[in-house]
Amino acid sequence: MNFGTYAGRALHTAVDLINSDDLSTGEAAATLLRDRGWTVDQPLTPDEVERLRALRPVLRYIFTSSTPHDGVRHLNAVLADMRALPQLTNHDGAWHWHYVQPDADLVDRVTTRCAVALLSVVADAGASRLRTCAADDCTNVFVDLSRNSARRFCDARTCGNRTHAAAYRARRRDNQPQ
Ligand SMILES: [Zn+2]
Ligand SMILES: [Zn+2]
Repeated sequence: MNFGTYAGRALHTAVDLINSDDLSTGEAAATLLRDRGWTVDQPLTPDEVERLRALRPVLRYIFTSSTPHDGVRHLNAVLADMRALPQLTNHDGAWHWHYVQPDADLVDRVTTRCAVALLSVVADAGASRLRTCAADDCTNVFVDLSRNSARRFCDARTCGNRTHAAAYRARRRDNQPQ
């Protein structure tokens, strides 16, 4: 499944934000956004950092809501708050949707694009693609865009290996002669 570079970047931004544990400084916030292709000229202000931190549970909700309808309603409300308005543009050479007014500030643009990206996954692939990590001690979320939709862990190398190793040790323990 391919959401295109522009939409894909917003999706990664949403996941990175939700999973971020260190989002306490303007520089950390700027780095997170820059890593996902946002143009951020200077560290975010304390107010912007606070608003980004507050955005995390808002975006996380659709990964954990008991029904997809709850999660979708929640993000639709965010888009209504942001007064999102789809406008197709190719100002950078590739056609893509803009949803925010040109004068919207950085955090409002992040908010809107992340909400659109998560809702687009539901529309194009189904809400079951928005998952939380199956590892016991991990609260990370991820988007399963694999063909067979069988991904269970936020990161196969860390959470996947740790869980498999623990299961292996448990099996060996169970098989020890008493
Ligand atoms: Zn654009
Ligand atoms: Zn994990």
